[in-house]
Amino acid sequence: MSQTFTLQSVLVLSEAGYQTQDVQVREGIIAAIGPNLSVIGEPIDGRGKLLLPGFVNAHTHSPEMWCRGLIPPLPLELWLGVLYQCPPLTPEQTYLAALWTAAETLLSGGTTLVDHLILTPGQELETIAAAAQAYQEIGIRACIAPLIQDHPMAVGLPTGQASGQLATTRQTQAVLELMETAVQRHHQPADGLYIAPGPTGFQLCSEALFEGCVELSQRYDLCLHTHLLETRAQQMLAYERYGVSGVEYLNRIGFLGSKTSLAHGVWLDDSDIDLLAMTGATIVHNPLSNLRLGSGIAPLLKYRQAGVNVTFGCDGSASNDGQDLLEAIKLGTMLHNPTDFEYRNWLSLPTAASMASLGGAKGLGLQEEIGSLTVGKQADLVLYDLSDWSMLPASDPLGLLLLGRPVNLIDRLWVGGRPILQDRQLKTVELANLRQRLLQGRSEWVTAPPALNQALEEQYRAVMGLGAGAKASAGKN
Ligand SMILES: [Zn+2]
Repeated sequence: MSQTFTLQSVLVLSEAGYQTQDVQVREGIIAAIGPNLSVIGEPIDGRGKLLLPGFVNAHTHSPEMWCRGLIPPLPLELWLGVLYQCPPLTPEQTYLAALWTAAETLLSGGTTLVDHLILTPGQELETIAAAAQAYQEIGIRACIAPLIQDHPMAVGLPTGQASGQLATTRQTQAVLELMETAVQRHHQPADGLYIAPGPTGFQLCSEALFEGCVELSQRYDLCLHTHLLETRAQQMLAYERYGVSGVEYLNRIGFLGSKTSLAHGVWLDDSDIDLLAMTGATIVHNPLSNLRLGSGIAPLLKYRQAGVNVTFGCDGSASNDGQDLLEAIKLGTMLHNPTDFEYRNWLSLPTAASMASLGGAKGLGLQEEIGSLTVGKQADLVLYDLSDWSMLPASDPLGLLLLGRPVNLIDRLWVGGRPILQDRQLKTVELANLRQRLLQGRSEWVTAPPALNQALEEQYRAVMGLGAGAKASAGKN
């Protein structure tokens, strides 16, 4: 397949505003941008179309695709109790979930995703191999961060008294060895496939596990990915267990750096934000998940003002129920306006677009390779059809794209110059066939919503000071 082509008379966004330009791509690399360039490779008519760098879906959990729409509105800690009742996936189901997650990301302007991959117990390496195969087949740039932990779920909630650190388990070394094997087998940057150690979060991981991940990242030049302070309960737990904030703790053990990305970051105070800015770590904002789980509203405008790099994610489909990246960017752009009357601090649309592309690239240490329309970078590009009905009437393309309700308007999409989408169709997988396999996979309409774990609910209510109250059930309307 030709990875050399010339886009002619296409609308691009520059610091000076919109411009009509030609863009040459030679062997997958952006070779030139300017007016009236000579044609190399296939000529592509860009008139009436907007070319943007691909966005990054910077935090998701692809296996949750099978639980989409299933879990009633609940806070994270209780939601997790329901999620973990879902039976583990076979490698085939993992593969299909990864394909579908990638397809939805691509169809909403994403060319890269970060899969904080839930591992099937006893089949951890098979799970990683299945997801890796799916991403290579569909052609999305993917960072797989296997979700690892060495503490049981039960210790993820505060107890109400200073507990001190939990002992390292024998499991820690085994988990780190597994991670290293995954790196050796699947970390292939030249093929657009990356492995990043992905400890679940300080609530479920020992210091030894974090340190082992840092050591691996140094040895193999890997990114790091984890959840950070998603909920109020986690904020309380950090003080209870470590005597400091979660950010201070992770910084103290050397986990925060310019190649570390942190999902959520909802419960940080001003000094945490300053500390985070100094480390160069990236916050991945998942607005839909934060609202669905009632986690809170991340202080995004404060992050921006402090100089913290921020990008967007969908989070897994059990806490968002879709992987529409444009929807996440839309909500993440406007959600913060009511938090600051100083409207000059609000996100502009070019800023939001840059956060979604270059911001995501920075979080993966790939800012020299992808994330902007720059000569010498990889052609991870998306061509939007501005004549689509959902983009009319013609006004500000970015306003229509990021604030409107664009529907299936991607004319073409490339990853490293490889054509992945053309004429609004995925070229690398057949959606109709994938749909059929999903229906046969383990799809069935539920007759009753999953039940809450009562002991967990009681503990959560006590921690959050909610009182005993009437017993709730997950399915109660
Ligand atoms: Zn997550």
